[in-house]
Formats: sequence, structure tokens, C-alpha cells
Amino acid sequence: MPLDDFPKMRAKDVMTTRVITVGENQTRQQAARLLTQHRISGLPVVNDDQVVVGVVTEYDIISKDGPKVRDIMTRGAISVGEDTDLEEVGHLLVQKRIKRLLVLDEGKLVGIVSRSDLVKEIAQHWVCHVCGEVTHSEVQPELCPRCGATETIASTESVPPGS
Ligand SMILES: [Zn+2]
Repeated sequence: MPLDDFPKMRAKDVMTTRVITVGENQTRQQAARLLTQHRISGLPVVNDDQVVVGVVTEYDIISKDGPKVRDIMTRGAISVGEDTDLEEVGHLLVQKRIKRLLVLDEGKLVGIVSRSDLVKEIAQHWVCHVCGEVTHSEVQPELCPRCGATETIASTESVPPGS
């Protein structure tokens, strides 16, 4: 079976859907408190219509002056769609040197996909060496769910095409 037949992982498969946002008219301190409380390094900024207008990061907060989020935020945000495949997501995170991408569905914020989401995905990705079945789980599966093979499941990224 060609590897191309396997379902590709997409942004929606790994994104965080519990997205915390901050309003552009909220204060810099409110943004700082959200970052601290939720232990995150960046927040999408929305306007009164809940449309994403930018991102505010720890860096913005310590490097820029201004009382309101809109004064210090980075305008515009790099985003992907729910169906963007993870390879593309990874390329963007690397090329743009950013830590997270917004996931938009028809302009509406539906999630965030971060570097750590991708790292987690790699950590939980197992491939059967017999039939190529892909499994996602925190622990290494004992049996391939498709062909029942044992001791043949190993972490991927090194499976040659067509094996
Ligand atoms: Zn198998």
C-alpha cells in the first residue's frame, strides 16, 4: 500500500481549540496577566467584532511602550486553515521563526497550532513496519490495530517510502 493512501495529519488534528484571546482595547497589563496565568508566550488580539487583528507576545510586552494592547501588538497574524497539512504548518513555523500559527476558518479563529503541538504529534506518532498503519497514542501500542503485528511498531520519521 502506498504511503500516500494514509490520511495526512492536518492542523485541526493537533491544534489547541481552547484559545485565549485579548481585546485590542484591553490594557498591556491585562495581556501580561493572561500570558502569566495561562503560561503562554503569545495571545491573539481581537477587535470588538472578535476578528483577529494581531498577536501580542511576551516580547511585545517587554519591548514596546503603550498602555493598550493595540499599541504594542504585532499587527496581522500568520494563519493557516484547519485543513492545512502539518508539513506546511512546520515549514511556516520554521521559515517565519514564529512559535505559533492561528488557525482560521472563514476568518474566524478556531484554534492555535504551536511548535509544541507538532513536537507532541511526533512523540505520539507510531507506524507499523508491516502494514504501515499509523497510530496516535501517548504510549507505544503493543499491537498494530490493523494487522495485529507485534514488535514491529516503532516511532516514525525514518520509514522509507513504500516500506
Ligand atoms: Zn500493521
